[in-house]
Amino acid sequence: MSAWRQAAQAQQARRLEQHLLRTPSVLAGPQQVETQINGQSVINFSSNDYLGWAGDPQMAEWLNQGGRQHGVGSGASHWVVGHNQAHEALENSIKQWLGVESVALFATGYLANLAAISALGADCAVHQDRLNHASLLQAGQLCASSRRFAHGDVQQLTQRLASATTRCLVVSDGVFSMDGDVAPVQALVQACEQHDALLMIDDAHGFGVLGDAGRGCTQGLAVPLVMGTLGKAIGAGGAFVAGDADYVEWIRQGAKPYTYTTALSPALAFVASRAIERLQNEPEHQAKLSANIAYFTGACQQAGIELLPSNSAVQACVLGDNQRALRISSQLRQQGLWVAAIRPPTVPQGTARLRIALSAAHHKTHLDTLVERLAQCLGKS
Ligand code: PMP
Repeated sequence: MSAWRQAAQAQQARRLEQHLLRTPSVLAGPQQVETQINGQSVINFSSNDYLGWAGDPQMAEWLNQGGRQHGVGSGASHWVVGHNQAHEALENSIKQWLGVESVALFATGYLANLAAISALGADCAVHQDRLNHASLLQAGQLCASSRRFAHGDVQQLTQRLASATTRCLVVSDGVFSMDGDVAPVQALVQACEQHDALLMIDDAHGFGVLGDAGRGCTQGLAVPLVMGTLGKAIGAGGAFVAGDADYVEWIRQGAKPYTYTTALSPALAFVASRAIERLQNEPEHQAKLSANIAYFTGACQQAGIELLPSNSAVQACVLGDNQRALRISSQLRQQGLWVAAIRPPTVPQGTARLRIALSAAHHKTHLDTLVERLAQCLGKS
């Protein structure tokens, strides 16, 4: 057997043995709360479709309209001929929505993070929260230096900034994707202002969920750069970096993942603009999500189910070892509840967990069923 085949098969065997092998789950039809996954009817608690818009027929109509007016594919990168009126309109919608000077669009949030951090951080020191998303941490590897500070520990960060001898870029998730807690954004702003560091917040899980009209966890705070995705609460696809014009332009001009890639689909850009208008015109969706979050966390508390503290749509029930997390996820699945087991390296060793993603589209009965079955699986009832 060739050395390559041997290495590939050894990798696979190792993952299987460590309960780290991932297998795809196939959804029938659009992303929805009540759906069919791998042929089984389930209630879905694993999607980042927090407002229930990804599979909404209204979104499909906008996609159709956007495709006819602006085309499906962009056909080129932004700097060549891929930058369409639909992209201009989306940039303007985001500027108006967030009250920022400038916006750059990307095909995914992963790409946006790689672009922003590799451009700004090329010759400076990058400081990141320990629990930042993988795309931020990987982007740090493209920089001159990237260090992690303890989760939410602004004091430790401040000490490092105070002793720094070069320019510093500080990067943190807004809502942490696997824990659901919110970064101490105001304290980060102060530390960065005090030490002339540049702050970027990745609020992929905050936009559409937190703040007035879904403006996220940085609303009203002097954060110079924010990254947001359009494929989670917004229900479309793509991402943006928004904020101070000097820094956004630095990224646009200097980032290879902006220059050397095909621009986001103009049809999707059109849908995202409409969805951002909807977020501002129809506050009831965000209000329903907030009510669901409060109801679910209250019911878990009453049932003795321990969750990490979180007011966001991401709720984590930490179970410890990988096998236990997989077993409970599988027991829930057998009862028609789809709750993802999250294992290392996505989360730190020994903190495998159920990641419960709540949506405005969940009914109380969905939430009640999950609490009841989860309590049974955990031996709480
Ligand atoms: N940042 C965070 C915090 C995320 O959770 C994710 C995706 N899960 C991303 C960035 C990447 O966004 P996208 O899925 O649009 O690539």
